Amino acid sequence: MKLLLLFAYLFVTVIRFALDWINIRHRQKGRQPLPDEFFGQIDEEQLDHSDAYALAGDRVGFIESIVGVLLTLVFLFGGLLPWYDHMIAGFLDSFILSGLLFFGLLALVQLLVGIPFSLYRNFILEERFGFNRMSFKLWCADLVKSLLVGSVLFLLLAGGALWLVQWAPQGWWLWVWGFWLVISIFLLFLSPYLIEPLFFKFTPLVRADLESDVRDLLTKAGAHAGKVLQVDASRRSGHSNAYFTGIGKVKRVVLFDTLIEQLDNKELLAVLAHELGHWRCGHLRQQLIKSQFMALFSFWLAFTLLQGQLLSGWFGLDQLSFAGQVLVLGWLGSLVGFFWTPLSSWWSRRHERQADQFAINMVGSGQELASGLVKLARENLSNLFPHPLYAAVYYSHPPLVERVLWLEQGKVQVKASAD
Ligand SMILES: [Zn+2]
Repeated sequence: MKLLLLFAYLFVTVIRFALDWINIRHRQKGRQPLPDEFFGQIDEEQLDHSDAYALAGDRVGFIESIVGVLLTLVFLFGGLLPWYDHMIAGFLDSFILSGLLFFGLLALVQLLVGIPFSLYRNFILEERFGFNRMSFKLWCADLVKSLLVGSVLFLLLAGGALWLVQWAPQGWWLWVWGFWLVISIFLLFLSPYLIEPLFFKFTPLVRADLESDVRDLLTKAGAHAGKVLQVDASRRSGHSNAYFTGIGKVKRVVLFDTLIEQLDNKELLAVLAHELGHWRCGHLRQQLIKSQFMALFSFWLAFTLLQGQLLSGWFGLDQLSFAGQVLVLGWLGSLVGFFWTPLSSWWSRRHERQADQFAINMVGSGQELASGLVKLARENLSNLFPHPLYAAVYYSHPPLVERVLWLEQGKVQVKASAD
């Protein structure tokens, strides 16, 4: 059985590497002509620069994947897991404490392995392409703060879950799900006040004319946002974004200061209209409901599998502690989850189209959004030529060229219906 799982893991790994490879090959094979909207914004030299950026990212991503695969193989298939599990069990008697130690130490190892990659990405790769604006001091401060926040959340979520497993051995799947649901709803409310200010500074928009335009757009879209803010993303990176978050009364619009630097007012409003589209079309709600259903199903499945000892022969699951069994099941879930990726990417691209359509209806044409997106692609050195298969599997947004053409078409449609 273990051999079969090893083959399944290697199969998925080979597919992932093959997708990366055809994507790189496709980019190097040559460029299709770009639509008119790109003219004057993105030239050959700019495309060379984007290619170099993508390749540098692919290289470090490749090494990171190899390290991940090797660690997984050694830990799960090389006999390290039972040894680790027994060591923890011999060290602590308590079910809850040993479970916390089991996952906590693994998370720590994962963090430590990730540190050199994070340093390399920020201070070598992003630096070389002019994106990094973070000092080493800020990087360290971020690390310490996220470690603290992560530890508190880990102790709360994992500690609470383990306690519930012990308390309700026959129905923990439902209790743990409910507990995590309550905590995540609390976090949705509290995170803008408790967690985000630890990392970012939110201030009113510097451009006063923009604020009134944004408010007009919000009214037109039927949204009431308490606050329209800009965030100092530029302290860390030159990459840009915008978002509209919150539920109930804590709704707020947040624009990255880098986005304000890069786009003019009309383009900014079009980008914001797209974000509002996600909210108006109920995408955020759908996403939340979908993920809660998935979580409920996963907990129930894990409970049933462990209860019926259906997988006891696999990996010698019956020899492992509860934490060890959960880890193996989680890993198995992520393996199966890979085949779910194309579907969830397709679903996400559908939502992006709907939000684009909403933006077209709000601002009257797709032109502003298209020109804003082209500028962002230029500033962010986006890859304009992904392999169609790669994009189909992984892209949460339609590839830019296709999206810009579609937006231009949208303009034509609105014109036609206005006539
Ligand atoms: Zn979107």
